[in-house]
Amino acid sequence: MSVALQCPQCQAPISANTKKCEYCQSEIFVNSVAYLSTKDSGVISRYLSSYQTLLNENPRNLEANVGVGVCFLIRGLYQEAQPYFVMATKNLFRIFLKLMLQKLRSPYVSLYSSVARNFSTAYDTFLTN
Ligand SMILES: [Zn+2]
Repeated sequence: MSVALQCPQCQAPISANTKKCEYCQSEIFVNSVAYLSTKDSGVISRYLSSYQTLLNENPRNLEANVGVGVCFLIRGLYQEAQPYFVMATKNLFRIFLKLMLQKLRSPYVSLYSSVARNFSTAYDTFLTN
């Protein structure tokens, strides 16, 4: 399913995989408070709504989770930012693990699956409360 996305800065139409707007050259995915802190509140709202559109399609979207977290930090919404960074961190771990598993063969596969399960449990228990 494809969604209609716009560049948060110039509002030109963009596709879901675009990293940089081809019209105004601005970054579509932001991971830096410094970059966004120079933008006005309307631009930040548009960044937020484009990330929310992506998260409606895929709540695990790594870049969109980081983006929402950064937008909330800029607005001083620290508590609201936290779950997005938690989700992003979990996804980074999954991606890391997938890359590891591609390089490894049994018996390491089951060992790493066990590490992943335990990490997720520990994360859910200790870091999200
Ligand atoms: Zn643009």
